[in-house]
Amino acid sequence: MKRLGAMMLAMLMLTGCAGGGVQTEVSMTEPGSATEATAAPVEEPAEEPEAMASDSLYVEAVDLPDGFILGADVSSLLAEEASGVVYRDFDGQEQDMLLTLAQGGVNYVRVRVWVDPFDSQGRGYGGGNCTAETAAKIGARAAQYGMKLLVDFHYSDFWADPGKQQAPKAWAGLSIDEKAERIRAYTAESLETIRAAGADVGMVQVGNETTTGICGETDWTKICALFRAGAQAVRAFDPNVLVVIHFTDPQNGGFDWLAQTLSEGGVDYDVFAASYYPFWHGSLENLQGQLSQVAERYGKQVMVAETQWPYTDEDGDDSGNTSDSMSGRGAYPFTVQGQSMEIRDVAAAVAAIPQGIGVFYWEAGWIPVPGQDRQSRSLLWEQYGSGWASSYAGEYDPQDAGRYYGGCACDNMALFDFEGNPLESLKTFALLRTGNGTPPPEEPAQEPDPRTTGPEAVNYLKNSGFEDEDRSMWAITPLTDRDQGDFQVKALDAYSGEVALHFWDSVPVHFQCEQTVTDLPAGTWRVSVQAQGDDTGDDADIHLYVISDGQTYTAPVTLKGWVNWQEALIEHVPCASGTITVGVYVRCRAGGWGTFDDFLLNPEK
Ligand code: CA
Repeated sequence: MKRLGAMMLAMLMLTGCAGGGVQTEVSMTEPGSATEATAAPVEEPAEEPEAMASDSLYVEAVDLPDGFILGADVSSLLAEEASGVVYRDFDGQEQDMLLTLAQGGVNYVRVRVWVDPFDSQGRGYGGGNCTAETAAKIGARAAQYGMKLLVDFHYSDFWADPGKQQAPKAWAGLSIDEKAERIRAYTAESLETIRAAGADVGMVQVGNETTTGICGETDWTKICALFRAGAQAVRAFDPNVLVVIHFTDPQNGGFDWLAQTLSEGGVDYDVFAASYYPFWHGSLENLQGQLSQVAERYGKQVMVAETQWPYTDEDGDDSGNTSDSMSGRGAYPFTVQGQSMEIRDVAAAVAAIPQGIGVFYWEAGWIPVPGQDRQSRSLLWEQYGSGWASSYAGEYDPQDAGRYYGGCACDNMALFDFEGNPLESLKTFALLRTGNGTPPPEEPAQEPDPRTTGPEAVNYLKNSGFEDEDRSMWAITPLTDRDQGDFQVKALDAYSGEVALHFWDSVPVHFQCEQTVTDLPAGTWRVSVQAQGDDTGDDADIHLYVISDGQTYTAPVTLKGWVNWQEALIEHVPCASGTITVGVYVRCRAGGWGTFDDFLLNPEK
């Protein structure tokens, strides 16, 4: 995934987890499954798949073509199970998560694969510690339930997304020809391992969200050479397996350029895949238009390889959620029904494209690991890799994982609740063709925030979210001999948009940043800012301040972790002079970090 991907999951192989040897219980939904004949005893009538009924869910029917892929990424599964997570069926009985997915209509699973997600002492980086072994084990279990496997090669030792496409440790510094050869050999060898374990490999992704590069390469001639190498290995492995190239974010017309580049680069592939997270990636209409254009112009099949939507605002593991800072919260409600609608609509958008072959829901089962608090969970994240990153990943990715390692940022977007019970929305896949229920009463539209939207929006600060490139109205003043405090372009660490005021340093941090506004109408004022951050120490002084008529007003800024946004607020500030200065002051220990975004200076009625 994109920024989410920047944040996620592992697996130490404790074998014998749930899932083995339940073949006779399987009631499969896949028509014409070759395994059905051998699995079902002859004397018993073939068990009809239990019709998945729901008396609470509304699903608008979709005209799905035969064989349409309804997939789920389940990469974190083994790490979750090793950490003690228990999944249940709709009756509350413990059951293999993959079987529950199959019963809910999922017919394909996806597993990411990293080359060597372990540090020099063999400790996992987290994010599931996913290797070819992981894909082999999960794929074999899924095959028992009639589900095929999409192998998602990142060609990295950890998360690969538009923010990073780092080559594996062992491949760093290789020439492009050597890298291509490594990719060819590694892909071939991994696929043999995965198939030998019993997985039904149907598709292979050559790279993950490779919008900005792959395996440490950013030049498109070289990128295409690596794509070609991976694709050749897949073709040699099995000509019936589909080769997938995967990008993210269908906005700004980039898909056509990418498809053209692949074409000119001689890349032999079958499926052009997109990530589509509605809170980041624009409208469904745009997604559909972009994919349709690629399908028609370049003769490719298309699909959505990742999508997700929250069913709740809650955070289940004391490790902030990416949805806390989503800008497109209004697309659907954060409810089980809202999640179902998102799944349904994305499937419908892809199915409406003649070359649209399917949709994968991302990380259907990544839920909180057992524990009373962050500290107890973090022991499991570290040991089993069930958080997005462990501290051990710092060796390979010091700038991101090494600083922000922790738990799951999307536990509120899984298809199971925090206790491992399947959500009603999981049934959506099974109910798509027929539809279900009656439309729910329209939810009242979310109240727009009068401070920031609509004609009454009166925020007297300029460029209050730092999105405009001219940031000269903001004055950053270092209070040490180092330049500390900067405007960081990183949507994941912005409350809205992409830019936020940011700090981190390896020495103690001390600076302030402010803007002065003049010619204000007389009255009283309200000032606020959004902040996230951590590790600033007990004696830190971080506060919002307002200077008006010679008086200074302050409010402490509380930092409670990554994407756990907190608002600092100062109200009832009188101003007769017409001039107000608004700012933040930061003094904290080395290693403390944070970002500030969306300052507001509003008149009070
Ligand atoms: Ca979380």
